[in-house]
Amino acid sequence: MDEKCGVVGISLQNREAARPIYYSLYALQHRGQESAGIVTHDGFQQYSHIGMGLVGDVFGPDDIDALNGSVGIGHVRYPTAGSVDSSCAQPFTVSFKSGSLALSHNGNLVNADDVRDELAELGHAFTSDGDTEVIAHDLARNLLEADLVRAVKRTMQRIHGSYSLTITHDDTVLGLRDPEGNRPLCLGKVEDGYVIASESSAVDTLDGEVIRDVRPGELIVLQPDGAGYDSYQLVENDRTAHCFFEHVYFARPDSEIDGKLVYDTRRELGRKLYEESGIDTDVVLPVPDSGRAFASGYAAAAEDVEFAEGLMKNRYVGRTFIMPTQDERERAVRLKLNPIKNTIEGKSVTLIDDSIVRGTTSTQLLDLLRDAGAEEIHLRIGSPPIVAPCYMGIDMASRDELIAGDRSIEEIRETIGADSLSYLSIDAISETLGTAREDLCLGCVTGEYPYDIDGEATDREIARPVIDGPDVADD
Ligand code: SF4
Repeated sequence: MDEKCGVVGISLQNREAARPIYYSLYALQHRGQESAGIVTHDGFQQYSHIGMGLVGDVFGPDDIDALNGSVGIGHVRYPTAGSVDSSCAQPFTVSFKSGSLALSHNGNLVNADDVRDELAELGHAFTSDGDTEVIAHDLARNLLEADLVRAVKRTMQRIHGSYSLTITHDDTVLGLRDPEGNRPLCLGKVEDGYVIASESSAVDTLDGEVIRDVRPGELIVLQPDGAGYDSYQLVENDRTAHCFFEHVYFARPDSEIDGKLVYDTRRELGRKLYEESGIDTDVVLPVPDSGRAFASGYAAAAEDVEFAEGLMKNRYVGRTFIMPTQDERERAVRLKLNPIKNTIEGKSVTLIDDSIVRGTTSTQLLDLLRDAGAEEIHLRIGSPPIVAPCYMGIDMASRDELIAGDRSIEEIRETIGADSLSYLSIDAISETLGTAREDLCLGCVTGEYPYDIDGEATDREIARPVIDGPDVADD
């Protein structure tokens, strides 16, 4: 499973913004490793540096020094919508009659094609097939006719899908979260300014204080001198659609998302996993690092069981899922993890992970444990089975690649070779997050989505906006 994208926006009083943005991108690196970019503005002109690769590879000291200005935005990207090449690396920039725009986007629009077709008919020329360019062009067009806040609102009324955005319009930094609040976005304060970021760990990295999450449908406008911010609730929705997988898998454990520390959430999910399907074995082992917080909660609830590390991770091997072919993925598991024989040999083992996507990794891990002498292996998973793809920006695999796409739990158990297998219930997730099921996105575990997606069922009454030109009510 690959994450998509981390965004940041910063406005400071008298200090160059590029370096703090660069540090924030390091803090968000887990959200995307394909490309990284920073755009700044010094009140006169826009500066940008964007490249393919990790933050540390993309930026050298001279690149940072050349990014002038006390405001700017940054982005780390994992590709979902659009091609895997530099034309989709972000921030996406565009200059037009009333200034310059740069956008960093986390999420995925489900009506990007409709809006692109309409804009293309009006003469807009597109340089990429990414949905961020669609938002940029729509906003640029609205800015020719309306002030900044109205222009953003008009664009929000035309786009449908998941988006947390940081934007610069000349030297003003904006943060915008979609009306369903699908992807996270938070607001923080540093000594001499303000920060908007995908996760609170980016604010922590800057020694800042998190003020709060950006609300679904809210626009935050940072004042150009770093002196303050303004908030506009542009769209009110009765229901949210927070991605529950942010809490289970994507976000850093030390981040707070929608008021919940991710580490605490994962430990509590582990506890609930024991309550729902605990089994007595000699030892509880986490799959590093994804299963660790779940396993510590599970083992604490089990009380008398030994909690140990049974698999050692080689930190110098890239992420398994970046490998493009199935064969390379399989080899990567062996490169990444080595069993610690003494904690496994002759024992019954409970192995804990956060999720199963294709099942390839689980199968390999179970083989490793059996080769190391495990007598029984019971697999416990801290989320429900993934039965359907994600259209909101997470590259999970297609339906037929998902091991739970067309198999029962018993069939999955047999396929991966576990002695027993249990998943966590949706109710346990909703209870732990303190969020009603109706206010979560559960699309990948129910097959019903909170957005109007071609050929898929919805979990609520929702329809795409009608794309009929710029005449949207401002009210
Ligand atoms: S489909 Fe799954 S991964 Fe995608 S946004 Fe919804 S909960 Fe998150």
